[in-house]
Amino acid sequence: MNHPVIIVGAGPVGMITALLLDRLGVPSLLIEKRKQLPDIPRAIHLDSEIINILSLIGLDNFIKNQVYPSQGLFLYSKSSRKKFLQATLNFNVKCSSFLFEQNQLEQLLLEEINKSINISLKYNCEFIRINNQEAEYSIQGQIVDQPFSYLIGTDGANSKVASVSGIEYTQYPYRKFNYKVDFITDQPPEYQNRIEKFCSTNNSFVRMAFKDRVRVEITEAAINGNGSEFPVKLIEDLAETRIKKVLHADKYYFNSKIANNWIVGKTIIAGDAAHTMPPYIGEGLCNGIRDAFNLSWKVAYCFYNGHKEKLLNSYSEERKVHVNKYIGLTLLTGLLFTSSLRYVLKPLELIGVPLKINQKPVKKGNSDINVPKYDLLTNFASEGSHWDYIRPLFNSFTIIANEQLSEKTIEEMTKLFSPLNVSFYSTKDEVAQTIFRILKIKKVKSIIIRPDLSVLFCGTLNQASRIKIQKTFKNEIIS
Ligand SMILES: Cc1cc2nc3c(=O)[nH]c(=O)nc-3n(C[C@H](O)[C@H](O)[C@H](O)COP(=O)(O)OP(=O)(O)OC[C@H]3O[C@@H](n4cnc5c(N)ncnc54)[C@H](O)[C@@H]3O)c2cc1C
Repeated sequence: MNHPVIIVGAGPVGMITALLLDRLGVPSLLIEKRKQLPDIPRAIHLDSEIINILSLIGLDNFIKNQVYPSQGLFLYSKSSRKKFLQATLNFNVKCSSFLFEQNQLEQLLLEEINKSINISLKYNCEFIRINNQEAEYSIQGQIVDQPFSYLIGTDGANSKVASVSGIEYTQYPYRKFNYKVDFITDQPPEYQNRIEKFCSTNNSFVRMAFKDRVRVEITEAAINGNGSEFPVKLIEDLAETRIKKVLHADKYYFNSKIANNWIVGKTIIAGDAAHTMPPYIGEGLCNGIRDAFNLSWKVAYCFYNGHKEKLLNSYSEERKVHVNKYIGLTLLTGLLFTSSLRYVLKPLELIGVPLKINQKPVKKGNSDINVPKYDLLTNFASEGSHWDYIRPLFNSFTIIANEQLSEKTIEEMTKLFSPLNVSFYSTKDEVAQTIFRILKIKKVKSIIIRPDLSVLFCGTLNQASRIKIQKTFKNEIIS
């Protein structure tokens, strides 16, 4: 069977891309060079936008049973053990941060994929190169050439898809060594459901816990002092709890880079293939999932309507800007984390843009009662902070009008967006009333929500002008 879309790499981003395409009715072939899922603990933090994307895929049980709301990031001075900063991602929702286990998520994604008739997953299958719009891969010693309409490279940080497509990266001058231990304890520590970073120039460490799971990360300097033995005592001292069973212990080199172009012809990259960042704010995977979400409906549109270069290019234009902000925040957090307290405020002043400082930080020596709260992000990927209302509208464009719509208008709009569905909501519908009330925007007469939940406003214009805007929208953005 020929698949219009080939996805290289069945990591979390590849699997989520395949599932989002599946939900839009687009078949795909997902190839993975491993023989099975890896069993290594990696990502542990998700933000609220990702929870909503997982919910759209149908993973509500996972969210209910295997995801734990977190209080966010707490930074302490390592020497005085005083808390000096508390940071959360600001998504305008009650809880923005959650703890989870990447391998549990991957297991559930695999189960969803196995249920889908649109996705064909092949393990032990390694992508080699692209020959004239055909992907060459090896499977059980055989070389296969498979034609594609779109090839999506979600093959991780050393992406073969990117290298054979001539994609180059901007490297950030950042490379750090970390030693990470994941273990089970029978004495859950008091820092449950939060991430604590103890900042110091050369001896910083991180600890986090949920349920009976604990993770500790230490630096090269700390491990070097402990010889080649697994440093049980050091880890238990830092974690302030007992190790019952070590799940995984390994060292990582973290670096950061972003691809200069994410699309070459009909080859597109996403996830770690497009960008990597150290896990200081736990956003590497989150951004890969946002890539998948932004990309999937655009590929689906092209699948149904023929190739639309401008639409696909909007994927890389939109995502690059956003990912760059996250890389900036990540590197800033890394800087704070590996500085001593007296150096902390300077980079905060310098970075300016994405930080919203609510209070003056407490000075060294003060108690930690009035710990300042930093909202790390004031801009987010999509304007989907009111998901509860718009969640049922996935897979379609949605027009929410602050007035009644005539039959004729509805007919015209339906033609305009075909074959993707359009849902209409006007003032007689509760959802429209609620959204306009929540958004507190009186002058806006209607809103268009894209399938990735980006929101486009149509301002105070008459009906003819608004239709013109929608036509322009179709011509300029979709064509
Ligand atoms: C210690 C650690 C902690 C982290 N913590 C967080 C966190 O808290 N929050 C967060 O959001 N992120 C975190 N991350 C980052 C997160 O783990 C990655 O961003 C995520 O795994 C990237 O997913 P991906 O699908 O893009 O790539 P990967 O997970 O790397 O998957 C790529 C897949 O492609 C396959 N592949 C590669 N080449 C080929 C080929 N030629 N042919 C076929 N298949 C191929 C690979 O086998 C692999 O399965 C952390 C990472 C680490 C290491």
